[in-house]
Amino acid sequence: MKNFLNALEDKFGAIRIEKEVSTSFEAAKILREHPKDLVILENIAESEIPVVSGLCNTREKIAHALSTEVAGILPIIVEGMKTPQPIQTVNEVSDIYKTSKKADLSELPVLTHYQRDGGAYLTSGVIIAQDPESGTRNASIHRMLVLDDNHLTVRIVPRHLYTYHQRAEALDEPLEIAIAIGMNPATLLATTTSIPITADELEVANSFHQGNMGVVQCENVDLQVPEAEIILEGKILPGERADEGPFVDLTDTYDVVRQEPVIELEKMHLKENAMYHAILPAGFEHRLLQGLPQEPRIFQAVQNTVPTVQNVVLTEGGCCWLHAAVSIQKQTQGDGKNVMMAALAAHPSLKHVVVVDEDIDIFDPEDLEYAMATRVKGDDDILIVPKARGSSLDPAALPDGTTTKVGVDATKPLDKKDKFERVSLSE
Ligand code: MN
Repeated sequence: MKNFLNALEDKFGAIRIEKEVSTSFEAAKILREHPKDLVILENIAESEIPVVSGLCNTREKIAHALSTEVAGILPIIVEGMKTPQPIQTVNEVSDIYKTSKKADLSELPVLTHYQRDGGAYLTSGVIIAQDPESGTRNASIHRMLVLDDNHLTVRIVPRHLYTYHQRAEALDEPLEIAIAIGMNPATLLATTTSIPITADELEVANSFHQGNMGVVQCENVDLQVPEAEIILEGKILPGERADEGPFVDLTDTYDVVRQEPVIELEKMHLKENAMYHAILPAGFEHRLLQGLPQEPRIFQAVQNTVPTVQNVVLTEGGCCWLHAAVSIQKQTQGDGKNVMMAALAAHPSLKHVVVVDEDIDIFDPEDLEYAMATRVKGDDDILIVPKARGSSLDPAALPDGTTTKVGVDATKPLDKKDKFERVSLSE
């Protein structure tokens, strides 16, 4: 953490708060005041461990972690998903961690963010587990509600970890897990990619690190985890459920309370001067980590239809989930409509999509609005699809889960290109 944190602070600056800050609401309030900054809360009232937030709350910081530019993030994720790299270096816990002891969540500065929240939530914890049937490893980020000093309820959406837990539960066995907190941002990003269940997110992460990523062999559980500031070891208990929620989701609105699995922790390992990574719910770091890894999926689906697709963004204003913009090199009249159908089909939560020409910077909201203002004729260029399956996070969706999808073709008509030429770009 220290190395990449220093590099990040050198390049982007940091807000360092020296005064004492409480984990109950106060810390979250400060994070909300600095939505795009790297923030370090040096003095936490309830814990010896400082809090860092905003490691990946802008595309520029994520690009920096991947040694690229903003427009280069998507190709690197696509490449990493295609060429995972087996991990070479395995360290012992004692090589990396100064303190190893019985797990005690009360020592960690776990934040309570908003008034109606179910409690204190771990928001940057990556759960590493192995499939009880195939042995394949999974790494995925989950929100976890603190129940007591060594128990958590974990929200597990029906994906890979869910399947592992179902399989262990069918055998009436606990599922061994490790939780890594405070990871390198490139590693963290890899754990949020949507790769097949047979693939290993940590090998994707290793590809982001050019094959140089090391892992740590846990002590109580038979798992290897990426180096992180704090590692917790434990298990998901079979047959146990507890209330999870309320919790503020991507859309800055409350998600419902559900019955979710319970984790029992056994050990924890802390680096010397460990830091705790807090991700603010509904903040840009939450949105980008959840949404940005979906962009390659949309890109690849659009590419099957219109090979000249340039880039895809799930915009921050659209919660990195509900709004996409796609840039293309338009070759045939009608390309715009085909692109919007492909994009809407690729990411079922997508609600609105805008298609633009390659001269528009899709990472710039003003440039996107410029395209919509100058290149859209409403009766010709807007596609409305009522009663399609939408996102469970969309407050406007109907109780049956359907919503209305809208596509906007903001590309120039091919027969009148001269009329639309941007003087500022051409002269
Ligand atoms: Mn997986």
